[in-house]
Amino acid sequence: MTDGFQRWKLDTKVVHAGFDHDSGCGATNIPIYQSASFEYETAEQLADVFEGREFGYIYSRISNPTVAELEKRINALENGRGAVATASGMAALSTAVYTLASAGDEIVASTSLFGGTYLLFRDVVEPNGISVRYVDPMDLTAVEAAIGPKTRFVFVETLGNPKLDVPDLEALAAVAHRKGVPLVVDSTLTTPYLTRLKAWGVDVAVHSITKYLSGNGSTVGGIVVDLGNFDWRKALNPQMLEAAAKYGPFAFLARARRQILQNTGACLSPFNAFIISLGLETLALRMARHCENAFALAQFLKQHPAVEAVNYPGLSDHPHFSIADRQFNGKFGGLLTFRLPDQARCFQFLDRLTLAKTVTNLGDSKTLVIHPWSTIYQSLSENDKRRAGVSDGLVRVSVGIEHIEDLIHDFGHALTEAKL
Ligand SMILES: *Cc1c(COP(=O)(O)O)cnc(C)c1O
Repeated sequence: MTDGFQRWKLDTKVVHAGFDHDSGCGATNIPIYQSASFEYETAEQLADVFEGREFGYIYSRISNPTVAELEKRINALENGRGAVATASGMAALSTAVYTLASAGDEIVASTSLFGGTYLLFRDVVEPNGISVRYVDPMDLTAVEAAIGPKTRFVFVETLGNPKLDVPDLEALAAVAHRKGVPLVVDSTLTTPYLTRLKAWGVDVAVHSITKYLSGNGSTVGGIVVDLGNFDWRKALNPQMLEAAAKYGPFAFLARARRQILQNTGACLSPFNAFIISLGLETLALRMARHCENAFALAQFLKQHPAVEAVNYPGLSDHPHFSIADRQFNGKFGGLLTFRLPDQARCFQFLDRLTLAKTVTNLGDSKTLVIHPWSTIYQSLSENDKRRAGVSDGLVRVSVGIEHIEDLIHDFGHALTEAKL
């Protein structure tokens, strides 16, 4: 990787950063090293790599050259210290959780979380002895009050899904740091195109690569990035402290890779890393169009008589518009929600769309719609659904990169029919 990459703009980094041209045959794309293990000339060399005296690849469950190129590229987008790619966004989240916390510890988390994250906490993290205290991330006093002596990190999403609330990251980082704990942020919905977490003081970034980073909806993947803001020697978890004594500034990355990922086996495959790296090249172009289309569709829906309300952080009457405007560089993402009177009306609307697809994913190039109440949040209690901002008349739209006139035509048609 050229040393100049830190000066490059994101649009350049997504195409060039992290690729070493080391394939020996001048390949311009990241080669797929589809190999489970890696051979050394002598037994001593392999022993040196095992011991950590020499850098090298051992086994693809720990690291793999194709996956490593992707890690370097996404880390460059975040200006981070380093990154660990994982099999999925959920694997990235569980890696971050178990790197920083063990049984007996606590996490302070936003009430407004992606459904899968909530289920990870409820079905895995909490039954295994780490308790989760939920707070409204917009209420800084409540966040500060929830951080106790056992809290190991604070966790929020850049854009709550599907509530689309926008926590003030700089203020949250200040609160967490005052209490001596790191701030971990899921930036799946914003990507480094909308916000540079490091500059706001965030310590660890988590992304589901499945969404905008790959963009083509063809593979599941995730990544954890150490943004380099937290001094791990001040970590409160004893295992993190041990790692800090051994690995210094690389404590988080070393523990995430060698103690968590290596043992849980939630590694990303080299083939999937390759597919992702192809999609990643067009991130800047795609995100610009996602944001532009979402803004136009939000305005169209807002004036439509069949629509009760539209939630998009780019609308000037959104309660967190000014935080979003400052934090996301004048762009507001590709996700919006709107309200119809009830579930029946939502189903009718979804069934009448012809272009937009009804699926659970988001961040695809195609426009995707879903009724969260009856799907993603279906297993939650009614109270928890409402706390997450889900009602039975809510439709979530992940706005794609199609021509906006085709989208407006499709939505307008389905809404008019839904009124009958
Ligand atoms: C999709 C998503 C995840 C989980 O990612 P997977 O790749 O599906 O495992 C986590 N957080 C957010 C905000 C997401 O949208």
